[in-house]
Amino acid sequence: RQQFSLLENIQMSRFSASFLRDINEHLGVPSEPPIDIQFQPSGYLFLASPESAAELEANVQLQRAEGAQVVLLSPTQLKEKFPWINTEDVAVASYGLEDEGWFDPWILLNAFRRKATSLGVQNCCGEVRAFVTSANDVIPSEPESARIKYVHIYMRDSLEYQPVACSIVVNAAGAWAGKLLEAEGLPGELCQPPLPIQPRKRYVFSWHCPDGPGLSCPLLVDTSGAYFRRDGIAGNYLGGMSPPEDEEPDPSDLSVDHGYFQEHVWPRLARRVPCFESLRVRGAWAGYYDYNTFDQNGVLGAHPRLENLFVAGGFSGHGLQHAPAAGRALAELVVHGRFESLDLHRLGWARLGQGEPLREGGLV
Ligand SMILES: Cc1cc2nc3c(=O)[nH]c(=O)nc-3n(C[C@H](O)[C@H](O)[C@H](O)COP(=O)(O)OP(=O)(O)OC[C@H]3O[C@@H](n4cnc5c(N)ncnc54)[C@H](O)[C@@H]3O)c2cc1C
Repeated sequence: RQQFSLLENIQMSRFSASFLRDINEHLGVPSEPPIDIQFQPSGYLFLASPESAAELEANVQLQRAEGAQVVLLSPTQLKEKFPWINTEDVAVASYGLEDEGWFDPWILLNAFRRKATSLGVQNCCGEVRAFVTSANDVIPSEPESARIKYVHIYMRDSLEYQPVACSIVVNAAGAWAGKLLEAEGLPGELCQPPLPIQPRKRYVFSWHCPDGPGLSCPLLVDTSGAYFRRDGIAGNYLGGMSPPEDEEPDPSDLSVDHGYFQEHVWPRLARRVPCFESLRVRGAWAGYYDYNTFDQNGVLGAHPRLENLFVAGGFSGHGLQHAPAAGRALAELVVHGRFESLDLHRLGWARLGQGEPLREGGLV
């Protein structure tokens, strides 16, 4: 989607959309089949209450200034375009006309992997559990910075680890990126401030509703925070809602609380789309948001004290669409020592130390 409020997030979306449009130029491998990420074009439709209308309108201005094709709809226009929506308490809506939709993340991941392998990258699949740094070499041992010399990688079903010497380390461990920086061998005093990224469980529910919105259904984000979209063309839909901070579910496993749909999500959906009153739940699953508890935006850049460590994580529910831009930006930092395509320095570590969160108003 193109609809964010933070300039960097909009720019990353624009970059990624363009990258995905030309994906075969970027990631195609001669003699291999072309990549089809199964992109389903469909606008996002954000609904705003009277209290949040001004903010939504300001966001759209910024998105348009960056080249995004987003329109504002009055309640009357909204009702004309999507007659199945109950527009009660909606002051204004924003709707994306281009470069929005959904695609298959697994295909994208494998396309990146296949391209990297074709260019000579060697994959080693295991878990990093410990680090060896230059801090251990220094006497007295209270250095102000250090380099990571080795990571210890544990292969699956093996008690032995493989020490891998490294000149550059990129922590892109998703929801576990924060935990990784607490691993054995990293001097605690050099890992301040901690990386505030943790797993937060999010449910996705799937339902059938033959009388539902149908083919014209966008990805709708309600004033209540509940969202849904069409899933195929056979009357199926999927959606969910992030819980309030004080009602976060226990993230220790990926079990689904089906009552959450019944009590919290369904009533909101049915209020906004009355035909959903008769929906039939088909299934549900859970996954982990790579949740940045500081400001729910990605952390991208060089670590302040571990000289050869870079981080790209904490994208908190919008990391898939920003992955091509984040990868490009990080590669530029590593190779050229500066951002070239997009200036993403505000997403760096400095804001964590300075206690200056970046606010994103378009979180789902
Ligand atoms: C329900 C749900 C819906 C979402 N919807 C969207 C959406 O609509 N749009 C969007 O853009 N994003 C969405 N996201 C978020 C998106 O999936 C993430 O932001 C994105 O996958 C993060 O990518 P990543 O590469 O940083 O981390 P990941 O994809 O999580 O990859 C991290 C990898 O690091 C590995 N790892 C962890 N620890 C270690 C270790 N110690 N050693 C070695 N490897 C390790 C993990 O096994 C994993 O393979 C959604 C997430 C969820 C859960």
